[in-house]
Amino acid sequence: MPKDTTNHPDLLAGAHVDAAAYDRMYAESIENPEAFWAEHGKRIDWIKPFTKVKDTSFAHDDVHVRWFEDGTLNVAENCIDRHLATKADQTAIIFEPDSPEEEAQHITYKQLHEEVGRFANVLKELGVQKGDRVVLYLPMIPEAAYAMLACARLGAIHSVVFAGFSPDALASRVNDSQAKVVVTSDGAPRGGRITELKDNVNKALLHCDDHVKCLVVKRTGQQVAWVADRDVWYDDIAANVSTFCHAAEVGAEDPLFILYTSGSTGKPKGVVHSSGGYLAYAAMTHQYTFDYHDGDVFWCTADVGWVTGHSYIVYGPLANGATTLMFEGVPTYPDAGRFWAVCEKHKVTQFYTAPTAIRLLMGQSDEFVTKYDLSSLKLLGSVGEPINPEAWNWYNEVVGKGKCPIVDTWWQTETGGHLITPLPGATALKPGSATKPFFGVQPVLLDATSGEEIHETEAEGVLCMKDSWPGQMRTLWGDPDRFVQAYFSDYKGYYFTGDGCRRDADGYYWITGRVDDVINVSGHRMGTAEVESALVAHDAVSEAAVVGYPHELKGQGIYCYVTLMSDETPSDELVKELQTWVRKEIGPIAKPDVIQFAPGLPKTRSGKIMRRILRKIAENDFGSLGDTSTLADPSVVDDLIANRANK
Ligand code: ATP
Ligand code: MG
Repeated sequence: MPKDTTNHPDLLAGAHVDAAAYDRMYAESIENPEAFWAEHGKRIDWIKPFTKVKDTSFAHDDVHVRWFEDGTLNVAENCIDRHLATKADQTAIIFEPDSPEEEAQHITYKQLHEEVGRFANVLKELGVQKGDRVVLYLPMIPEAAYAMLACARLGAIHSVVFAGFSPDALASRVNDSQAKVVVTSDGAPRGGRITELKDNVNKALLHCDDHVKCLVVKRTGQQVAWVADRDVWYDDIAANVSTFCHAAEVGAEDPLFILYTSGSTGKPKGVVHSSGGYLAYAAMTHQYTFDYHDGDVFWCTADVGWVTGHSYIVYGPLANGATTLMFEGVPTYPDAGRFWAVCEKHKVTQFYTAPTAIRLLMGQSDEFVTKYDLSSLKLLGSVGEPINPEAWNWYNEVVGKGKCPIVDTWWQTETGGHLITPLPGATALKPGSATKPFFGVQPVLLDATSGEEIHETEAEGVLCMKDSWPGQMRTLWGDPDRFVQAYFSDYKGYYFTGDGCRRDADGYYWITGRVDDVINVSGHRMGTAEVESALVAHDAVSEAAVVGYPHELKGQGIYCYVTLMSDETPSDELVKELQTWVRKEIGPIAKPDVIQFAPGLPKTRSGKIMRRILRKIAENDFGSLGDTSTLADPSVVDDLIANRANK
């Protein structure tokens, strides 16, 4: 591990959970999960209260996950109606458009109630009923949240598809879920450019059932090609419907949404989440992990197309009656100061983003940060990939001024909410560690080959979960066998996360990367994250991705793709310097065999490095790159192939 030179921010004073409370609550949650979750299930307003709390099994031949199963509720009522008595005029959603020239919107809970009621009635006019699937392919505009909550109000199941996805990727998701309606907009402004969303839907629907309707929200006002009988303008129907819509009573276990995983490791999986358990867990983690208090302004920069946007832009914050910020744009438009400009403008108190964005901004001048007043910030968060200590330190010092705790939250689309994360009033931080389990979460490390649980505190192995938590996925849409196969078969009796992990002497968890990505050099198993962090710790390096490749002597060699800081130039000397650097930081065994300078790395649309593609390139196997439908910029791959280090 690179040495730790940070001035750690202090624990947040007055937080919901301090260190003593964490220990007590964690013990309760493990020793008596029924009582613990019966209590926290009350975060939700139930129409019919549950009498059963937990019925779960990870046994390979009988996998089932049910929470609060005889309770009934409506998710939209929980996110809106129940706040009206006290918070009708409080801002629920702040909308910050792509262009800083366009005015921001402040949508109150009262307005949200009307907008969602209207949207639900529009969907009803199109024949949407409880249990039907609705695909949402929208920019990051308030209507995306309205549409999600409108589905929830009707008991319909939404499947949000990130607006950056291609027509093919959209079509396969519409077909997989047999959706009745696709909701889109004319165009989507992003980073000063327009994505032709409606055009993409037109192309996608050529490959879908004729009965699928297309509902179009006006965003850009541009011309769009129209198919009569299939396409309808939202405004045309909205003008004639009421703003009140009755909220359907749904079972706790009824699906709230389907969401496809990023596809970092293979074909995306259609993860199904429940209504009751999911909402309780999203709300609870939002409150405790971010230490949300009334009056805070919470900003999660994810897109609603990812689970992070579902749980921490929409459902968690709104269930807690919070003010949540939705940002339509990108971190570098009009320049690399945009995030901080928005923080200053809206006095953001909690800011939650991904390591990919932090590394990107770290590669630019610090002046983009320092020229803004960030004194409103009290907490920073990270999610999506391991955050390299170097990036952590930059985030802490330059953005947080050494006074904002950083919550490095480890979780997955499948987990619904945070599983391993610091709590800002309770957990002393270590840069690069996701630290400790959340309440009710029982991480275990298994030996990769024997599948045996490792009981020593200091250990390294495959990260699994021993028992369920309310936010856990319930199945894969239309494919219950793949659900069992993917998560409960490799290690019987456990939920298998797919990630490798190290536990230190203090019981802190350090995610080492995906199990598939582990490198075995002369019999030494090494996580990719560690080598990458060492590289990023060098002043010249902005980002790095490391994979193994076949090596005659060592079994596997270490192949590094390195993106330099904007003011650095590649050279043979730099290659040598970096090799020596990593050797010094980690040890001789970790010395990179190959370093290829790469102006860009292949990433998923959510910004995660796709190592499986880098592995193929390192192996000189360009013919079978696998599913690349979720790749953000395919041209990056061509460039890497053309410049593959000739070693
Ligand atoms: P797929 O499952 O289709 O390959 P994916 O795993 O990238 O895609 P997500 O559910 O979006 O899809 O991502 C979850 C994964 O992201 C985790 O399993 C882990 O590898 C990584 N991750 C998320 N947060 C963190 C974190 N704080 N630290 C380290 N890794 C993280
Ligand atoms: Mg995954």
